[in-house]
Amino acid sequence: MKNKNFIRFLGTAGARVVVAKQLRASGGIWISLNGTNLLIDPGPGSLVRCFASRSKLDPTTLDGIILSHKHLDHAADINVMMEAMTLGGKERHGTVLVPQDALSGDDPIIYKYVRPYVGEIVTMKENGKYRVGKVTISTPITHKHGVETYGLILKSQKQTIAYITDTNYFSELAQYYKADIVIVSVLSVQPNPFNHLSIEELKPVLAELQPRKTILTHFGMWMIEAKPWLVAQRLSRELKMDVVAAADGWSLKLPTCPRGKN
Ligand SMILES: [Zn+2]
Repeated sequence: MKNKNFIRFLGTAGARVVVAKQLRASGGIWISLNGTNLLIDPGPGSLVRCFASRSKLDPTTLDGIILSHKHLDHAADINVMMEAMTLGGKERHGTVLVPQDALSGDDPIIYKYVRPYVGEIVTMKENGKYRVGKVTISTPITHKHGVETYGLILKSQKQTIAYITDTNYFSELAQYYKADIVIVSVLSVQPNPFNHLSIEELKPVLAELQPRKTILTHFGMWMIEAKPWLVAQRLSRELKMDVVAAADGWSLKLPTCPRGKN
């Protein structure tokens, strides 16, 4: 892709049924910022989606892979993508950012034999700050989601992108994710009992955050049935802000002018 700054959705599925039936793809989110290529949450089919994508995304060009948490819908292809990024360890490079429980404990998700393939594996912590290429990544707050989970703020010279990954609602959310663009996991329209945000709970968060653009993703069955693009339209009108629903394979070209100058 000629434009160096873009976000590509290799999947928009969330939770078990939508992923298990592949009603939406589940490959994660590819973000390119000023020549730094990052893959976030490589769920089932991530590698396939990279090559099925138009235009193709070459995993060997990745500078980093970030795992918000180890649930399978976010993490199933983490080992596959670490291999693909490095051609099976032949071209050792790249940073992998993961919660500690992806590497240790009873069921670490990252195979030991794959770990030396990459340049480095860094464990994320609450209030952490990391750098991959030209992008600074921060993990402002631990989410409430059953396993160790971090949302992200990606900052380059020209963009700030927040990724509010899976979490139960908590009132401080809006304090932590000020950004130009907010990508957010929403499972349902009404509050749900599955440790995920709903549209209703998201409203006050967005009203406080006032991002330039909000992108909804990680759709559960309730959202699919409600038609995410209609939900986004209604939310846009109600909050008087730009809210869109991501679609599988959709790319958002990012402006190249500095924040606040367009
Ligand atoms: Zn999850």
